[in-house]
Amino acid sequence: MRIDALTYPALLDCIAEMIGEGTPHQIATANPEFVMLAQRAPAFREVLERAELCIADGVGLLWAARRLGRPLPERVTGSDSLPLIAARAARQGWRLYLLGAAPGVAERTAAILVGQYPGLQIAGVYAGSPAEGEAPGIVGRVRQARADVLLVAYGAPAQDLWIARHRQELAVPVMLGVGGTFDHIAGVQRRAPRWLQRLGLEWLFRLVTQPRRWRRQLTIPQFVWRVLRSRPDPQTP
Ligand code: UDP
Repeated sequence: MRIDALTYPALLDCIAEMIGEGTPHQIATANPEFVMLAQRAPAFREVLERAELCIADGVGLLWAARRLGRPLPERVTGSDSLPLIAARAARQGWRLYLLGAAPGVAERTAAILVGQYPGLQIAGVYAGSPAEGEAPGIVGRVRQARADVLLVAYGAPAQDLWIARHRQELAVPVMLGVGGTFDHIAGVQRRAPRWLQRLGLEWLFRLVTQPRRWRRQLTIPQFVWRVLRSRPDPQTP
């Protein structure tokens, strides 16, 4: 699976370029669970292969890349990208649409971001749902809002499959799955403290605070095992 070797400034430059081009682009925030799911589910794999960018949201990808001889410059998470995107959007006039999370959470997130980045233009907010029956209504709302960046918080992999299914009709230049990011910004769900993130243990914090994730996170030891058994990438210079 391709993971793009990016830093935060490089991601923002890519986003600026995508907005300049104006055609639909998809960005996936990948982690080890993504890699393992992509191996089991060809449709998900195809979505990630077609996404214009797959950023290394999970620390396990940095470890794996280093071990396989193709180190990545840094972890680039959806949660930390959103405030940076909002800051740049406020300066450059990009319009953000916040889709997903529980009712009211996207509104609260938008209000917080506008407070932090005066001048930020919010094209729209809507909770909606990734259910197919709701898609035509949501696509209509988003199209009408003429957003430059669509942030979709339906959780992985639903958000990434949803963006891929509707990317042409949505026709937003940048569409990014952001998982629990609105919950973190709105204060609905606590994010791991920085020191735990620095230790590379955010995944453990999430497992303890959201035990319903255990089934999904069972794939992490499988990922570690697969990486340990893999040979370094022969393309290494
Ligand atoms: N969510 C939603 N509709 C759904 C399922 C999930 O809006 O049908 C939202 C949920 O409220 C939360 C986010 O999607 O804000 C998923 O957060 P999570 O931390 O689980 O993200 P992940 O780590 O799965 O990407």
